[in-house]
Amino acid sequence: MTERFTGSFTQQEPIPDEGISAALEVLNHGRLHRYNTGPDELSETACLEQEFAQLVGAKYCLAVASGGYAMATALRAVGVKPGDKVLTNAFTLAPVPGAIAAVAAEPVFVGVTEALTIDLEDLAAKLDQSQVLLLSHMRGHLCDMDALMAMCDAAGVTVIEDCAHTMGGAWNEVPSGRHGAVGCYSAQTYKHVNSGEGGLFVTDDAEIAARAIILSGSYMLYERHLAAPGPEVFERVKYVTPNISGRMDNLRAAILRPQLRALDTQVERWNARYRVLEEGVRDTPGLTIVERPEAESIVGSSFQVLLLDWTEAAVQEVVQRCGTRGVELKWFGAAEPVAFTSRYDSWRYAASEKMEKTDRVLAGVLDMRVPLTFSLDDCALIARIIRAEVSAVFQGS
Ligand SMILES: *Cc1c(COP(=O)(O)O)cnc(C)c1O
Repeated sequence: MTERFTGSFTQQEPIPDEGISAALEVLNHGRLHRYNTGPDELSETACLEQEFAQLVGAKYCLAVASGGYAMATALRAVGVKPGDKVLTNAFTLAPVPGAIAAVAAEPVFVGVTEALTIDLEDLAAKLDQSQVLLLSHMRGHLCDMDALMAMCDAAGVTVIEDCAHTMGGAWNEVPSGRHGAVGCYSAQTYKHVNSGEGGLFVTDDAEIAARAIILSGSYMLYERHLAAPGPEVFERVKYVTPNISGRMDNLRAAILRPQLRALDTQVERWNARYRVLEEGVRDTPGLTIVERPEAESIVGSSFQVLLLDWTEAAVQEVVQRCGTRGVELKWFGAAEPVAFTSRYDSWRYAASEKMEKTDRVLAGVLDMRVPLTFSLDDCALIARIIRAEVSAVFQGS
């Protein structure tokens, strides 16, 4: 009998009951706007910021409308101007070069290694082209952050971290988002906490925080923030910082607060599923596992394998065969952008040079989401299907 998987790769868990009741409370009182507070009332949004700052050990936190907005705000807040160049990963998703385009800057793409992390050699060669690196921890893979920060600090390059896939992860015990000047997170449905849309921004730099808060559309109500610098810092920036509205609202914040409290447990559940997938496909001929370094505390909310140096046709056959058995694999090698997968050379608004080592890796990356609605048995079944189909195509080729 041929086994088939029938679960959905896009179905997340429901919002926890605590989040639903908190949301109903906000709906019942009607004060959804973050600055619409009663006397002595602390808004859900301000509390969320305070709690997230504590969770990752940051001085300041700002909740915003999306992860993409957080990144564009970070670029503005660190001083990126139209026409500036910004270093970023060639292996990432469209909102990352999109954030750079949003501030009319130009991405300079840095290659990817077989570890699916930024190529530090390529970065070293390009560091003198820009003063800012928007570093995407794509699919949760963290590079050697100590080495990267040493390089960037020595070159005077400011690092902004895209932690859309690493909320809850860490490198050498330092939470993801806390190595660079700014950490940006997403609360979009497919990430690690779910408010439909949403973003979080953390920094220890008082002026960057003040600028970001004003940029987000705080009018002059910044004193209602709980994870913000003092008024004297706002005095220095408030007349020269535009309002580019992108606030979070109290309804989303109410949904997110209980999810953040459960984040550690969720991370363990993701990682249990990840390990079952990893063990299940280990030693499949032709397939390379992306080994995770010991210094990395992972969040296994997605799973990648490499079919290195396979022909395009063979990789596509694997994707197709797994697909007919209910296992949706995404391939990053496709010439045309499909669904959320796209390549650095498909973002035609941004110039790029051909990167052969990167192209080789991208041509071999297969990717899948691991929603927590999957059981451990589901993951074992998915791994059996991948193993069988990869083996069948590999032997036939
Ligand atoms: C989802 C995502 C973001 C931010 O996304 P929003 O949808 O704007 O919240 C940023 N980077 C990566 C790699 C992502 O996948």
